[in-house]
Amino acid sequence: MNNLKLLKASEKHGSPLYVYDTNKIKKQYNRLKNSFKTVKSLQINYAVKALSNISILKFIINLGSGIDAVSIQEVHLALKCGIKPEKIIYTPNGVSMDEIKMAAEFGVRINIDNLSVLEDFGNNNPSIPICIRINPHIMAGGNSKISVGHIDSKFGISIHQIPHLLRIVNNTKIKVNGIHMHTGSDILDIDVFLRASEILFETAKNFRSLEFIDFGSGFKVPYFPNDSETNIEELGNKLSKRFNSFCKEYGKDLTLMFEPGKFLVSESGKFLCKVNSIKQTTSTVFAQVDSGFNHFLRPMMYGANHHIENISNPNDLQRYYSVVGYICETDTFATNRKISTIRNGDTLCFNNAGAYCHAMSSNYNSRYRPAEVMYINNKFELVRKREDFNDLIRNQIDIFNQ
Ligand SMILES: *Cc1c(COP(=O)(O)O)cnc(C)c1O
Repeated sequence: MNNLKLLKASEKHGSPLYVYDTNKIKKQYNRLKNSFKTVKSLQINYAVKALSNISILKFIINLGSGIDAVSIQEVHLALKCGIKPEKIIYTPNGVSMDEIKMAAEFGVRINIDNLSVLEDFGNNNPSIPICIRINPHIMAGGNSKISVGHIDSKFGISIHQIPHLLRIVNNTKIKVNGIHMHTGSDILDIDVFLRASEILFETAKNFRSLEFIDFGSGFKVPYFPNDSETNIEELGNKLSKRFNSFCKEYGKDLTLMFEPGKFLVSESGKFLCKVNSIKQTTSTVFAQVDSGFNHFLRPMMYGANHHIENISNPNDLQRYYSVVGYICETDTFATNRKISTIRNGDTLCFNNAGAYCHAMSSNYNSRYRPAEVMYINNKFELVRKREDFNDLIRNQIDIFNQ
Protein backbone atom coordinates (compact mmCIF):
# COMPACT_ATOMS: atom_id res chain seq x y z
CA MET A 1 0.00 0.00 0.00
CA ASN A 2 2.41 2.73 -1.20
CA ASN A 3 1.73 6.44 -1.71
CA LEU A 4 0.82 6.09 -5.39
CA LYS A 5 -1.72 3.39 -4.62
CA LEU A 6 -3.17 5.46 -1.80
CA LEU A 7 -3.52 8.48 -4.10
CA LYS A 8 -5.32 6.32 -6.63
CA ALA A 9 -7.70 5.07 -3.95
CA SER A 10 -8.39 8.64 -2.90
CA GLU A 11 -9.10 9.63 -6.51
CA LYS A 12 -11.46 6.73 -6.98
CA HIS A 13 -13.34 6.83 -3.68
CA GLY A 14 -13.17 10.53 -2.85
CA SER A 15 -11.97 12.51 0.13
CA PRO A 16 -11.73 12.19 3.07
CA LEU A 17 -11.19 8.44 3.08
CA TYR A 18 -10.25 5.70 5.53
CA VAL A 19 -8.08 2.90 4.15
CA TYR A 20 -7.24 -0.32 6.04
CA ASP A 21 -4.39 -2.61 5.06
CA THR A 22 -5.39 -6.18 5.89
CA ASN A 23 -1.77 -7.38 5.51
CA LYS A 24 -0.85 -5.30 8.54
CA ILE A 25 -3.78 -6.65 10.59
CA LYS A 26 -2.74 -10.21 9.77
CA LYS A 27 0.87 -9.46 10.62
CA GLN A 28 -0.05 -8.06 14.03
CA TYR A 29 -2.37 -10.98 14.77
CA ASN A 30 0.35 -13.50 13.96
CA ARG A 31 2.93 -11.51 15.89
CA LEU A 32 0.84 -11.72 19.04
CA LYS A 33 0.05 -15.39 18.43
CA ASN A 34 3.70 -16.31 17.88
CA SER A 35 4.79 -14.44 20.99
CA PHE A 36 2.69 -16.88 23.04
CA LYS A 37 3.36 -20.05 21.07
CA THR A 38 4.53 -21.99 24.13
CA VAL A 39 1.10 -21.56 25.75
CA LYS A 40 -1.10 -24.59 24.96
CA SER A 41 -4.31 -22.66 24.53
CA LEU A 42 -4.34 -19.02 23.42
CA GLN A 43 -7.43 -17.07 22.44
CA ILE A 44 -7.16 -13.58 20.97
CA ASN A 45 -10.45 -11.69 21.13
CA TYR A 46 -10.54 -8.60 18.93
CA ALA A 47 -12.05 -5.56 20.68
CA VAL A 48 -14.77 -4.56 18.21
CA LYS A 49 -15.07 -1.02 19.50
CA ALA A 50 -11.75 -0.02 17.92
CA LEU A 51 -13.03 -0.53 14.37
CA SER A 52 -16.39 -2.18 13.84
CA ASN A 53 -16.80 -2.43 10.07
CA ILE A 54 -18.29 -5.86 9.33
CA SER A 55 -15.82 -6.66 6.55
CA ILE A 56 -12.96 -5.96 8.96
CA LEU A 57 -14.68 -8.12 11.59
CA LYS A 58 -15.06 -10.99 9.14
CA PHE A 59 -11.44 -10.70 8.09
CA ILE A 60 -10.26 -10.83 11.70
CA ILE A 61 -12.66 -13.65 12.61
CA ASN A 62 -11.27 -15.62 9.65
CA LEU A 63 -7.79 -15.31 11.15
CA GLY A 64 -9.16 -17.36 14.06
CA SER A 65 -9.88 -14.48 16.40
CA GLY A 66 -12.68 -14.32 18.92
CA ILE A 67 -14.49 -11.09 19.75
CA ASP A 68 -14.51 -8.77 22.74
CA ALA A 69 -17.76 -6.81 22.89
CA VAL A 70 -18.68 -4.01 25.27
CA SER A 71 -22.30 -3.55 24.19
CA ILE A 72 -25.14 -5.78 23.12
CA GLN A 73 -25.00 -4.12 19.71
CA GLU A 74 -21.37 -5.21 19.31
CA VAL A 75 -22.45 -8.75 20.26
CA HIS A 76 -25.10 -8.48 17.55
CA LEU A 77 -22.59 -7.26 14.97
CA ALA A 78 -20.20 -10.09 15.74
CA LEU A 79 -22.95 -12.72 15.51
CA LYS A 80 -24.03 -11.21 12.18
CA CYS A 81 -20.48 -11.86 10.99
CA GLY A 82 -21.00 -15.56 11.63
CA ILE A 83 -18.92 -16.12 14.74
CA LYS A 84 -20.05 -18.69 17.30
CA PRO A 85 -21.41 -17.13 20.49
CA GLU A 86 -18.92 -18.98 22.68
CA LYS A 87 -16.11 -17.11 20.91
CA ILE A 88 -17.52 -13.78 22.09
CA ILE A 89 -16.78 -12.31 25.48
CA TYR A 90 -19.12 -9.54 26.56
CA THR A 91 -17.54 -7.06 28.98
CA PRO A 92 -20.09 -4.40 29.84
CA ASN A 93 -19.81 -1.63 32.40
CA GLY A 94 -22.82 0.14 33.82
CA VAL A 95 -25.37 -1.47 31.50
CA SER A 96 -28.87 -2.62 32.46
CA MET A 97 -29.57 -6.14 33.73
CA ASP A 98 -31.84 -6.59 30.70
CA GLU A 99 -28.85 -6.17 28.42
CA ILE A 100 -26.78 -8.71 30.35
CA LYS A 101 -29.67 -11.17 30.19
CA MET A 102 -29.92 -10.66 26.45
CA ALA A 103 -26.23 -11.45 26.06
CA ALA A 104 -26.68 -14.55 28.21
CA GLU A 105 -29.54 -15.68 25.96
CA PHE A 106 -27.25 -15.33 22.93
CA GLY A 107 -24.90 -17.74 24.70
CA VAL A 108 -21.86 -15.45 24.79
CA ARG A 109 -19.38 -15.39 27.65
CA ILE A 110 -20.40 -12.88 30.29
CA ASN A 111 -17.85 -10.78 32.12
CA ILE A 112 -19.15 -9.10 35.29
CA ASP A 113 -17.45 -6.17 36.97
CA ASN A 114 -19.81 -5.19 39.78
CA LEU A 115 -20.66 -7.06 42.99
CA SER A 116 -24.32 -6.08 43.09
CA VAL A 117 -24.77 -7.11 39.46
CA LEU A 118 -23.02 -10.39 40.25
CA GLU A 119 -25.34 -11.05 43.17
CA ASP A 120 -28.43 -10.22 41.16
CA PHE A 121 -27.33 -12.21 38.10
CA GLY A 122 -26.12 -15.14 40.22
CA ASN A 123 -29.37 -15.37 42.16
CA ASN A 124 -31.44 -15.50 39.00
CA ASN A 125 -29.13 -17.46 36.68
CA PRO A 126 -26.97 -19.73 38.85
CA SER A 127 -26.46 -22.16 35.96
CA ILE A 128 -24.86 -19.62 33.61
CA PRO A 129 -21.10 -19.46 34.17
CA ILE A 130 -19.54 -16.01 34.33
CA CYS A 131 -16.14 -14.37 34.19
CA ILE A 132 -15.11 -11.80 36.78
CA ARG A 133 -13.38 -8.54 35.95
CA ILE A 134 -10.88 -7.63 38.63
CA ASN A 135 -9.48 -4.19 39.26
CA PRO A 136 -5.87 -4.81 40.30
CA HIS A 137 -5.35 -1.13 41.19
CA ILE A 138 -2.32 -0.77 39.02
CA MET A 139 -1.82 2.66 37.48
CA ALA A 140 -1.28 1.96 33.83
CA GLY A 141 -2.04 3.56 30.51
CA GLY A 142 -0.97 6.52 28.43
CA ASN A 143 -3.25 9.15 29.98
CA SER A 144 -6.03 9.50 32.55
CA LYS A 145 -8.83 9.06 30.01
CA ILE A 146 -7.59 5.64 28.96
CA SER A 147 -6.27 4.37 32.27
CA VAL A 148 -9.03 2.22 33.74
CA GLY A 149 -7.36 0.11 36.44
CA HIS A 150 -6.51 2.72 39.06
CA ILE A 151 -8.12 3.09 42.49
CA ASP A 152 -10.76 5.61 41.40
CA SER A 153 -11.71 3.74 38.26
CA LYS A 154 -15.33 2.70 37.68
CA PHE A 155 -14.14 -0.56 36.10
CA GLY A 156 -13.75 -3.96 37.69
CA ILE A 157 -14.22 -5.45 41.12
CA SER A 158 -11.54 -4.25 43.51
CA ILE A 159 -9.06 -6.82 44.76
CA HIS A 160 -9.90 -5.51 48.22
CA GLN A 161 -13.43 -6.84 47.74
CA ILE A 162 -12.37 -10.45 47.13
CA PRO A 163 -13.79 -11.74 50.45
CA HIS A 164 -17.18 -10.24 49.60
CA LEU A 165 -16.90 -11.59 46.05
CA LEU A 166 -16.24 -15.11 47.34
CA ARG A 167 -19.24 -14.93 49.68
CA ILE A 168 -21.51 -14.00 46.76
CA VAL A 169 -20.11 -16.81 44.62
CA ASN A 170 -20.66 -19.32 47.44
CA ASN A 171 -24.13 -18.09 48.25
CA THR A 172 -25.40 -17.98 44.68
CA LYS A 173 -23.53 -21.16 43.61
CA ILE A 174 -22.63 -19.41 40.36
CA LYS A 175 -19.77 -20.93 38.39
CA VAL A 176 -16.80 -18.67 37.71
CA ASN A 177 -15.15 -19.76 34.46
CA GLY A 178 -12.76 -16.87 33.97
CA ILE A 179 -10.83 -14.06 35.60
CA HIS A 180 -10.24 -10.87 33.68
CA MET A 181 -8.48 -7.54 33.87
CA HIS A 182 -8.10 -4.62 31.50
CA THR A 183 -6.07 -1.84 32.98
CA GLY A 184 -5.86 0.73 30.21
CA SER A 185 -4.48 1.62 26.84
CA ASP A 186 -0.93 2.48 25.83
CA ILE A 187 0.89 0.42 28.43
CA LEU A 188 4.62 0.55 27.78
CA ASP A 189 6.07 -0.91 30.93
CA ILE A 190 6.03 -4.70 30.76
CA ASP A 191 6.84 -4.97 34.45
CA VAL A 192 3.66 -3.05 35.29
CA PHE A 193 1.72 -5.49 33.16
CA LEU A 194 3.39 -8.47 34.83
CA ARG A 195 2.72 -7.05 38.28
CA ALA A 196 -0.97 -6.72 37.46
CA SER A 197 -0.87 -10.29 36.11
CA GLU A 198 0.49 -11.56 39.44
CA ILE A 199 -2.55 -10.08 41.15
CA LEU A 200 -4.75 -11.87 38.63
CA PHE A 201 -3.01 -15.21 39.31
CA GLU A 202 -3.37 -14.67 43.05
CA THR A 203 -7.09 -14.01 42.59
CA ALA A 204 -7.49 -16.98 40.27
CA LYS A 205 -6.39 -19.39 43.01
CA ASN A 206 -9.69 -18.73 44.77
CA PHE A 207 -11.70 -20.39 42.01
CA ARG A 208 -11.66 -24.08 41.14
CA SER A 209 -13.71 -24.05 37.95
CA LEU A 210 -11.69 -21.68 35.79
CA GLU A 211 -11.34 -22.26 32.06
CA PHE A 212 -9.46 -19.10 31.13
CA ILE A 213 -7.58 -16.07 32.35
CA ASP A 214 -8.10 -12.92 30.31
CA PHE A 215 -5.32 -10.32 30.52
CA GLY A 216 -7.25 -7.67 28.62
CA SER A 217 -5.20 -5.40 26.43
CA GLY A 218 -3.64 -1.98 26.37
CA PHE A 219 -0.64 -2.63 24.15
CA LYS A 220 0.95 0.52 22.81
CA VAL A 221 1.74 0.85 19.12
CA PRO A 222 4.07 3.39 17.48
CA TYR A 223 2.34 6.54 16.23
CA PHE A 224 5.25 8.12 14.38
CA PRO A 225 8.73 7.11 13.19
CA ASN A 226 10.90 6.05 16.17
CA ASP A 227 7.96 6.16 18.60
CA SER A 228 7.96 3.57 21.38
CA GLU A 229 5.78 0.46 21.46
CA THR A 230 5.00 -2.41 23.81
CA ASN A 231 7.56 -5.13 23.31
CA ILE A 232 5.08 -7.93 22.62
CA GLU A 233 7.79 -10.52 22.08
CA GLU A 234 9.32 -9.83 25.49
CA LEU A 235 5.92 -9.79 27.15
CA GLY A 236 5.07 -13.07 25.40
CA ASN A 237 8.27 -14.66 26.57
CA LYS A 238 7.88 -13.62 30.21
CA LEU A 239 4.13 -14.02 30.61
CA SER A 240 4.01 -17.39 28.80
CA LYS A 241 6.51 -18.87 31.22
CA ARG A 242 4.63 -17.50 34.20
CA PHE A 243 1.27 -18.61 32.80
CA ASN A 244 2.50 -22.15 32.13
CA SER A 245 3.89 -22.45 35.64
CA PHE A 246 0.62 -21.15 37.05
CA CYS A 247 -1.36 -23.78 35.10
CA LYS A 248 0.86 -26.50 36.60
CA GLU A 249 0.22 -25.16 40.06
CA TYR A 250 -3.50 -24.88 39.34
CA GLY A 251 -3.56 -28.43 37.98
CA LYS A 252 -5.22 -27.65 34.65
CA ASP A 253 -4.32 -26.12 31.27
CA LEU A 254 -6.26 -22.88 31.13
CA THR A 255 -6.78 -20.71 28.07
CA LEU A 256 -4.80 -17.48 28.00
CA MET A 257 -6.89 -14.68 26.53
CA PHE A 258 -6.17 -11.21 25.26
CA GLU A 259 -8.54 -8.63 23.83
CA PRO A 260 -6.53 -6.20 21.73
CA GLY A 261 -8.14 -3.47 19.67
CA LYS A 262 -5.46 -0.92 18.93
CA PHE A 263 -2.66 -3.48 18.58
CA LEU A 264 -4.47 -5.30 15.77
CA VAL A 265 -5.89 -2.45 13.72
CA SER A 266 -4.32 0.92 14.59
CA GLU A 267 -1.36 0.81 12.23
CA SER A 268 -3.36 -0.80 9.44
CA GLY A 269 -5.35 2.40 8.95
CA LYS A 270 -4.54 5.51 6.92
CA PHE A 271 -6.75 8.56 6.84
CA LEU A 272 -6.55 10.52 3.59
CA CYS A 273 -7.81 14.07 3.30
CA LYS A 274 -7.33 16.95 0.88
CA VAL A 275 -5.92 20.39 1.59
CA ASN A 276 -8.55 23.06 0.96
CA SER A 277 -6.32 26.02 1.64
CA ILE A 278 -3.05 27.26 3.01
CA LYS A 279 -3.43 30.16 5.40
CA GLN A 280 -0.49 32.17 6.61
CA THR A 281 -1.11 34.17 9.80
CA THR A 282 1.37 36.33 11.69
CA SER A 283 2.83 33.34 13.49
CA THR A 284 1.78 30.16 11.74
CA VAL A 285 1.23 28.46 8.42
CA PHE A 286 -2.04 26.55 8.56
CA ALA A 287 -2.87 23.72 6.21
CA GLN A 288 -6.66 23.41 6.26
CA VAL A 289 -8.06 20.04 5.25
CA ASP A 290 -11.51 18.83 4.23
CA SER A 291 -12.12 17.17 7.59
CA GLY A 292 -12.13 17.88 11.31
CA PHE A 293 -12.77 16.26 14.69
CA ASN A 294 -16.07 15.03 13.29
CA HIS A 295 -14.04 12.48 11.33
CA PHE A 296 -10.86 12.10 13.34
CA LEU A 297 -11.10 12.89 17.04
CA ARG A 298 -8.06 11.38 18.69
CA PRO A 299 -5.70 14.40 18.49
CA MET A 300 -8.34 16.63 20.13
CA MET A 301 -9.76 14.06 22.58
CA TYR A 302 -6.55 12.39 23.75
CA GLY A 303 -3.85 14.75 22.54
CA ALA A 304 -2.78 11.93 20.22
CA ASN A 305 0.13 12.60 17.93
CA HIS A 306 -0.61 11.02 14.54
CA HIS A 307 2.16 11.15 11.95
CA ILE A 308 1.12 13.16 8.87
CA GLU A 309 2.66 12.91 5.43
CA ASN A 310 2.04 14.88 2.24
CA ILE A 311 1.71 11.97 -0.17
CA SER A 312 1.07 14.24 -3.18
CA ASN A 313 4.46 15.91 -2.77
CA PRO A 314 6.51 13.71 -0.46
CA ASN A 315 10.06 14.76 -1.36
CA ASP A 316 9.96 18.54 -1.43
CA LEU A 317 11.40 21.04 1.06
CA GLN A 318 10.20 20.25 4.61
CA ARG A 319 8.34 23.14 6.26
CA TYR A 320 6.49 23.67 9.54
CA TYR A 321 2.70 23.55 9.51
CA SER A 322 -0.27 23.48 11.78
CA VAL A 323 -2.72 21.03 10.26
CA VAL A 324 -6.29 22.01 11.06
CA GLY A 325 -9.80 21.11 9.94
CA TYR A 326 -12.86 22.91 8.62
CA ILE A 327 -15.02 22.70 11.75
CA CYS A 328 -16.29 25.94 13.28
CA GLU A 329 -14.24 25.61 16.44
CA THR A 330 -10.67 24.74 17.16
CA ASP A 331 -9.89 21.39 15.57
CA THR A 332 -6.15 21.05 15.42
CA PHE A 333 -4.71 17.78 14.14
CA ALA A 334 -1.10 18.82 14.60
CA THR A 335 0.91 21.92 15.46
CA ASN A 336 4.37 22.94 14.33
CA ARG A 337 4.73 19.77 12.29
CA LYS A 338 7.49 19.30 9.73
CA ILE A 339 5.86 18.21 6.48
CA SER A 340 7.00 18.24 2.87
CA THR A 341 5.77 21.50 1.22
CA ILE A 342 1.97 21.53 1.12
CA ARG A 343 0.03 23.04 -1.78
CA ASN A 344 -3.71 23.50 -2.29
CA GLY A 345 -5.27 20.23 -3.36
CA ASP A 346 -2.54 18.02 -1.95
CA THR A 347 -3.56 14.81 -0.19
CA LEU A 348 -2.36 14.34 3.37
CA CYS A 349 -2.08 10.90 4.91
CA PHE A 350 -2.54 10.38 8.67
CA ASN A 351 -1.04 7.25 10.21
CA ASN A 352 -2.62 4.97 12.83
CA ALA A 353 -6.12 5.64 11.57
CA GLY A 354 -7.37 2.11 12.21
CA ALA A 355 -8.35 2.19 15.87
CA TYR A 356 -10.82 4.63 17.45
CA CYS A 357 -10.96 6.84 14.38
CA HIS A 358 -13.88 6.07 12.08
CA ALA A 359 -15.47 4.36 15.08
CA MET A 360 -15.61 7.71 16.89
CA SER A 361 -16.69 9.85 13.95
CA SER A 362 -19.86 11.92 13.95
CA ASN A 363 -22.01 14.17 11.77
CA TYR A 364 -21.06 17.34 13.65
CA ASN A 365 -21.46 20.43 11.44
CA SER A 366 -23.80 18.24 9.37
CA ARG A 367 -20.92 16.70 7.47
CA TYR A 368 -21.02 13.20 6.03
CA ARG A 369 -18.97 10.44 7.61
CA PRO A 370 -16.18 9.28 5.27
CA ALA A 371 -16.11 6.13 3.19
CA GLU A 372 -13.98 3.15 4.28
CA VAL A 373 -11.85 1.03 1.98
CA MET A 374 -10.11 -2.25 2.73
CA TYR A 375 -6.86 -3.18 1.00
CA ILE A 376 -7.01 -6.93 0.43
CA ASN A 377 -5.37 -9.21 -2.19
CA ASN A 378 -3.66 -6.15 -3.72
CA LYS A 379 -7.01 -4.46 -4.31
CA PHE A 380 -8.93 -1.63 -2.69
CA GLU A 381 -12.45 -2.76 -1.80
CA LEU A 382 -15.07 -0.27 -0.68
CA VAL A 383 -16.45 -1.51 2.67
CA ARG A 384 -18.53 1.52 3.68
CA LYS A 385 -20.07 4.08 1.39
CA ARG A 386 -19.62 7.75 2.10
CA GLU A 387 -22.77 9.15 3.67
CA ASP A 388 -25.05 11.46 1.78
CA PHE A 389 -27.79 13.96 2.56
CA ASN A 390 -30.36 11.23 3.21
CA ASP A 391 -28.19 9.83 5.99
CA LEU A 392 -28.25 13.20 7.72
CA ILE A 393 -32.03 13.44 7.86
CA ARG A 394 -32.90 9.72 7.95
CA ASN A 395 -34.29 9.59 11.49
CA GLN A 396 -35.40 13.18 11.80
CA ILE A 397 -39.08 14.01 11.89
CA ASP A 398 -40.26 17.22 10.29
CA ILE A 399 -43.31 18.05 12.42
CA PHE A 400 -44.14 21.03 10.20
CA ASN A 401 -44.55 18.89 7.12
CA GLN A 402 -46.82 15.97 8.04
C1 LIG B 1 -11.26 -0.95 24.95
C2 LIG B 1 -11.08 -2.27 25.51
C3 LIG B 1 -10.12 -3.14 24.98
C4 LIG B 1 -9.20 -2.76 23.84
O1 LIG B 1 -8.21 -1.86 24.23
P1 LIG B 1 -7.03 -1.45 23.22
O2 LIG B 1 -6.23 -0.45 23.94
O3 LIG B 1 -7.66 -0.91 21.98
O4 LIG B 1 -6.26 -2.69 22.91
C5 LIG B 1 -10.05 -4.40 25.53
N1 LIG B 1 -10.86 -4.78 26.54
C6 LIG B 1 -11.78 -3.96 27.07
C7 LIG B 1 -12.66 -4.45 28.18
C8 LIG B 1 -11.92 -2.68 26.59
O5 LIG B 1 -12.84 -1.87 27.14
